[in-house]
Amino acid sequence: MSLSLSADQPDVPADADEGVWLECIECGETFAPFADVRYTCDDCDGLLEVRYADLPTFDDFEGEGVWRYADALPFDDGVSIQEGATPLYEVPRLEDDVGVEALRIKHEGMNPTGSFKDRGMTVGVRVATELGVGRLACASTGNTSAALAAYGSRGGMETLVLLPAGKVAAGKIAQASLHGARILEVDGNFDACLDIVQELARQGEAYLLNSLNPFRLEGQKTIGLEILEGFLSDYGTVPDRIVLPVGNAGNTSALYKAFRELVQAGELDESDVPKLTGVQAEGAAPMVEAIQNGADEVRRWDDVETRATAIRIGNPVNAPKALPGIRETDGTAVSVSDERITEAQRDLASEGIGVEPASAASVAGLRKLRAEGIVADDERVACLTTGHLLKDPDAAAAAGRDSEPVPADTDGVLEYLRE
Ligand SMILES: *Cc1c(COP(=O)(O)O)cnc(C)c1O
Ligand SMILES: [Zn+2]
Repeated sequence: MSLSLSADQPDVPADADEGVWLECIECGETFAPFADVRYTCDDCDGLLEVRYADLPTFDDFEGEGVWRYADALPFDDGVSIQEGATPLYEVPRLEDDVGVEALRIKHEGMNPTGSFKDRGMTVGVRVATELGVGRLACASTGNTSAALAAYGSRGGMETLVLLPAGKVAAGKIAQASLHGARILEVDGNFDACLDIVQELARQGEAYLLNSLNPFRLEGQKTIGLEILEGFLSDYGTVPDRIVLPVGNAGNTSALYKAFRELVQAGELDESDVPKLTGVQAEGAAPMVEAIQNGADEVRRWDDVETRATAIRIGNPVNAPKALPGIRETDGTAVSVSDERITEAQRDLASEGIGVEPASAASVAGLRKLRAEGIVADDERVACLTTGHLLKDPDAAAAAGRDSEPVPADTDGVLEYLRE
């Protein structure tokens, strides 16, 4: 199986371009990477992965941010706004409270547009320039559109974003709007938006930059590489487990790919690969259902609901890449209620870390798995927080303290404070 941790490095096919090619994860068909636009396999419609003749080693990495990892990417540089190099925060109180050996928060909200989507876009928009396409498009629960709008305009390209009407947090629409994207508000959910934009892409109307695009996931691999380097330098070992929110399962797939490539390169022992642990909201948990049922395919959920709008997704397109990732690393998937998500958002905030609701799902999931004994007390864990607090100011205000009206004079304020 091509997605197994112990898979051999494949032979370099004739259609490789400077040691880079695309390969179907279902049937193994290979394609030239930049000759034409392609998102899935011509033969079987399976998902594609980028493959390399030369695998990366830790010694090859130099510089800072996503492009530090150029040796693990299809280009040496990209359309960049200094993405990556995000903090790996210590959270001593939360670590104690959850009860694990070590807990670190990889805060992807500290990227230029406030989410990890920037890591995918710096690579994806670079590929778009290589292909010579004029118009970029995505369906989005918000953050993909913000990142696409920023990177597209940085690259001098027109951008089109399809959003579910009324379901996108205020900060995200504001970003897409100011960075100059055309915003199409669709009277349907995210999955409907993705169906439409995929059809537009198929008809050649735009270049698709959802995580179905295999190049975006290459950029997102660097989250995993940064976490490993951070743990190696602070603890001398890689983490036992990485817990992350799951929407379309792009990150789950990307982290798994980063680890597979390191294993193939002989840089990481198969037994040391962190357990990938996905967290979904109870109202949108098709991946959790598939993992718990041992299913090979994910059943599409037509009605999804959660206040964690970034993971309000019923049909995770990257499931065929992510399910093997969770299983092969001995990880798991768990769902959490919206109430627990909000509590975890407050927990993080009390350590000074401001995240949007979807991000807090990772911490809520870790708490649940720790309480169930599935996560052991001697584990070193990294939780991924995917987006910044300011992305969803309404959710933050609802989760936080109410403001208190006071008179407009010092005596009045003092009197109020002493009450
Ligand atoms: C996109 C997004 C997710 C979902 O990530 P996937 O890679 O699609 O699973 C989670 N949280 C936030 C904040 C996001 O923007
Ligand atoms: Zn195929």
